[in-house]
Amino acid sequence: MDKKITIAIDGFSSTGKSTLAKQIAAHLGYVYVDSGAMYRAVTLYAMENGFVSPTHLDKEGLVSSLPDIKLEFHFNPEAGFGEMYLNGQNVEKKIRTLEVSGLVSRIAEISEVRAKLVEQQQHMGENKGVVMDGRDIGTVVFPNAELKLFMVASAETRAQRRFDELTQKGETVTFEAVLENVQQRDHIDSNREDSPLIQAVDAIAIDNSNLSREEQFELVLGLVNEATQL
Ligand code: C5P
Repeated sequence: MDKKITIAIDGFSSTGKSTLAKQIAAHLGYVYVDSGAMYRAVTLYAMENGFVSPTHLDKEGLVSSLPDIKLEFHFNPEAGFGEMYLNGQNVEKKIRTLEVSGLVSRIAEISEVRAKLVEQQQHMGENKGVVMDGRDIGTVVFPNAELKLFMVASAETRAQRRFDELTQKGETVTFEAVLENVQQRDHIDSNREDSPLIQAVDAIAIDNSNLSREEQFELVLGLVNEATQL
């Protein structure tokens, strides 16, 4: 049997990381971890407890409350992936709104938040057989991952995908607002001091602007097969 490996998938917002990660994890029988959901859940906690809003950020308050934040993934067989729970409550829907998207990159800049989440992520990947997607997985969380992918697509393609996703869920948003959010997060995620989004030197870049889901899946499956046989 092929050995179990760690697969790290990084890239800009809405590059299709989670779609790909879920497909690969389901195919291999691996655990899928959406690290962005964890940053989103901390952001939701910060919003609900008055630590962040579009006009203010109480970093010290949030940092001192970090021990009170319990994050867990519970596998939902119908959805086929682990849903995000914040202090025992399923927040899978609440963390996907444009409001959370608008604040999450500010929360993800805080080193104490990153340290807490990275530790938990490393723990989840201890036994390998994991596919994790995010911004710093190949560079910080699993620098020794056997396979690292870096996903790229144009900002317009990505905004269109996110716009379709949100409107399908019934959210009232404009394409311009979504594009602006995508570009703003790209900027903050790439320029923050702690663990900025960069391509790991040993990561393989995949531009999926013109690839179908199936083409991308086949391409990556080939890379997985090579990595598991090394
Ligand atoms: O992946 P997703 O778009 O849901 O991530 C939301 C935000 O969480 C990102 O824009 C980024 O600011 C932050 N994030 C991060 N590091 C990760 C995953 C997400 O900083 N590993």
